[in-house]
Amino acid sequence: MIRGSCCCGAVRFELTAPPTMMGTCHCSRCRKLGASTFVFVRREDFRWLEGRDSVVRYAPEPPFTYARCFCRACGTALGEIESEHDSFPVAANCLDDDPVVRNRFHEFVADKPAWYEICDAAKQFPGHPVRASES
Ligand SMILES: [Zn+2]
Ligand SMILES: [Zn+2]
Repeated sequence: MIRGSCCCGAVRFELTAPPTMMGTCHCSRCRKLGASTFVFVRREDFRWLEGRDSVVRYAPEPPFTYARCFCRACGTALGEIESEHDSFPVAANCLDDDPVVRNRFHEFVADKPAWYEICDAAKQFPGHPVRASES
């Protein structure tokens, strides 16, 4: 079981299986929303434990596809844990246990701020990676 929670503990969930993958996005949107490294979780592996009513959702404007969720009390970036997708990104920063998967790629590297240095060997894409390589 891989547990996840927000900083204040109001929001708690668990994953019954390891995420399918991990990726890091360097676009300005992810940076400002406070979550750049995500794990992708299948809906059937995600279970709410507490605090679903503490989650606020920031809806995406096109061309963005994923909504962003936050704890309304502490502001922890949670990814898209309130999602209508079958597989959705959960912010790696709110996981309490090792998700087993490791970062597989960096996307939107062209938008990366100069102060951030990539320190792993994961594949880098200047923009969005080809969809096929994600699944
Ligand atoms: Zn919280
Ligand atoms: Zn991004």
